[in-house]
Amino acid sequence: MTTSDVIVIGGGVTGLTAAVRLAERGREVRVVSRDPARDTTSAVAGGLCWPYRVRPEERAVAWSLRSLHLLTELAARPAETGVRLVTGTMADAGDAEPDGWHAAVPGLRRATPDELPPGCGAGWRAAMPLVDMPSHLRYLERRLAQAGGTVQRRPFTSLAEAGREAGTVVNCSGLGARELVPDVAVQPVQGQLVIVENPGVEEWFGSADAHAESTTYILPQPYGVVLGGTAREGAWSREPDPATARAIVERCARVHPKLAHARVLAHRVGLRPGRTAVRLEAERLPDGALCVHNYGHGGAGVTVAWGCADEVVRLTGDGTG
Ligand SMILES: Cc1cc2nc3c(=O)[nH]c(=O)nc-3n(C[C@H](O)[C@H](O)[C@H](O)COP(=O)(O)OP(=O)(O)OC[C@H]3O[C@@H](n4cnc5c(N)ncnc54)[C@H](O)[C@@H]3O)c2cc1C
Repeated sequence: MTTSDVIVIGGGVTGLTAAVRLAERGREVRVVSRDPARDTTSAVAGGLCWPYRVRPEERAVAWSLRSLHLLTELAARPAETGVRLVTGTMADAGDAEPDGWHAAVPGLRRATPDELPPGCGAGWRAAMPLVDMPSHLRYLERRLAQAGGTVQRRPFTSLAEAGREAGTVVNCSGLGARELVPDVAVQPVQGQLVIVENPGVEEWFGSADAHAESTTYILPQPYGVVLGGTAREGAWSREPDPATARAIVERCARVHPKLAHARVLAHRVGLRPGRTAVRLEAERLPDGALCVHNYGHGGAGVTVAWGCADEVVRLTGDGTG
C-alpha cells in the first residue's frame, strides 16, 4: 500500500482540476480513478461553459463565474489547453429579467431578432469558453504531472479504504459516489449526442430549458460539430439510440439546415452525475482522515470545475482566503 498526503478519487474534469489546484499549492497528490479519463462522463461533455442542470443556483453561478474567468485565460493557448473562446447564442423562453449568471457574464447581451433562428423569440449572445474535452483532460493530466501529481487506475470500494492511504481524501467520483459514499441522491441523467462533420458552423447554439428531456445544442469542436441532446433522468444505458439520434439531427437542422446532410462521425452517450444539489463539503472519516466531497455536478461539471476546485483547496485547509 502506498500512502499519500492527498488522494483525489476520480479522474474526470472535477477530480483532475481539483488535483491540479492542490498540487500547484505544494500538496503531494495522487489521483485514483477507476476509469481512464477518455472513458469518463467528462470526455463525453459538449464542453460549453454555461450552468445547466446544476444546483444550488447561487453557489453554481459563483463557481461558474470563477471558471469562466480561468477558462478565458486558458483560451489564450487553445492548442495546449483545448479551450477556445467561441461566439454563440443561448436561446431562452422569453424576456425574463436576467438572473445572477446573465447579469455577470462579461459581454453577454440580448440577441437581436436577426441573430436568432426561426421560431425563437429571445436569446443571449456572447463569446464563451468552448472546451474540447478529450484534449482538455489530457492537458489537465500533463499539468498535474508537472506539479508532481500522479494518476493511478483502480477502483476504491469505500471512502474508508482511501482514508487508510492518505490524510486527506477528495471525493470527485461523480456518479460513482452513489455506491462509494454511498449516496442514493446521486442519479444518472443520460445525455445523447451526435458528432457530425462540420458543414460550415462557426458559432455555438444552445436552448436553455433545464426541465426538458429533449434539448437542442450545436457546438463546433475541432473534432466535429457536437449535436445535442437529451436529458433522461434515471436512465442508465450508455448505448446510443438510433431514433433519438435522428431526432437530435432533425432539431439541430432547424437551426442550421446544412446539418441535416452532414456526415455522422460518431454517436456518444454519457451519464451526468445528477443530484438535487452539488455536494461540496468536508467531513471526518471514521479513522480520522479529512474527506472533502465534490460530486453531483449534473450538466455543468466542466462549467463549475475551477470554482469548485478553489473551494476544495479552502476546505482542505490550504486556501489563502
Ligand atoms: C451529453 C453530455 C453533455 C454535457 N455537456 C456539458 C457541457 O457542455 N458543459 C458542462 O459544463 N458540462 C456538460 N456535461 C456534464 C459534465 O460532463 C459532467 O458534469 C462532468 O463530466 C462531471 O465530471 P466528474 O469529474 O464529476 O465526473 P466523471 O467525469 O464521471 O468522473 C468520475 C470519475 O470518478 C471515477 N470513479 C467513480 N467511482 C470510483 C471508485 N469507486 N473508485 C475510483 N474511481 C472512481 C471514475 O472512474 C471517473 O474517473 C455534459 C454531460 C453529458 C452526458
